[in-house]
Amino acid sequence: MTLPVNTSNAQKKNAIDAIEALKQLQAGNARFVADRPRHPHAKTDWRQALEKGQHPFAVVLGCSDSRVPPELIFDQGFGDLFIVRVAGNVVDVDVTASVEYAIDHLDTQLVIVMGHSNCGAVTATLDHLSNDEGEPAEVVSLLYRIEPAIVGIPKNLSRQKQIAHAVKRNVELAVRRLSHVPDLRRRVTTGKIKIVGGVYDMHTGKVNFID
Ligand SMILES: [Zn+2]
Repeated sequence: MTLPVNTSNAQKKNAIDAIEALKQLQAGNARFVADRPRHPHAKTDWRQALEKGQHPFAVVLGCSDSRVPPELIFDQGFGDLFIVRVAGNVVDVDVTASVEYAIDHLDTQLVIVMGHSNCGAVTATLDHLSNDEGEPAEVVSLLYRIEPAIVGIPKNLSRQKQIAHAVKRNVELAVRRLSHVPDLRRRVTTGKIKIVGGVYDMHTGKVNFID
């Protein structure tokens, strides 16, 4: 992306709707997968233009895992993505508030919940449910948020398949939870915003979007 750097162009990003935002994420991820990242919006003049304000074109709710940095995965730079990261990309009140802030105050119109392969938080939830090893109370509280994604997964699946299944379902549940927040539901219903899910494949680098 080679947008000239000035405030008016930063303002133009404000006009990017959810469909266009999704296209930009997909294009950035394709560059990343192809090993041809542009590392846009990382220069000093762009950063300084952003002192006047931010208009990130997408909100990403992702996992804290050090191997899944959204800016790199989507080949974006400063001011492009409003990112909330928490282990297991779970939805709680603070996460919801952060998402609502971006939509209400920064006019961002796309939200993506991004899980990832080999998620440690999802794996820990599987382990905790099948073998209570006495995690700290705060960790258990987090795992309970992931637990609904684990329930009902066929036990005859391999461990890897169980984890993959749970990762996808955990994303779907987070999308559903966000979509049921009244302020967000109203905007989804009126077509003002979109909330989508995706799973990042750590091996290929590709983000597979979920319908
Ligand atoms: Zn994770």
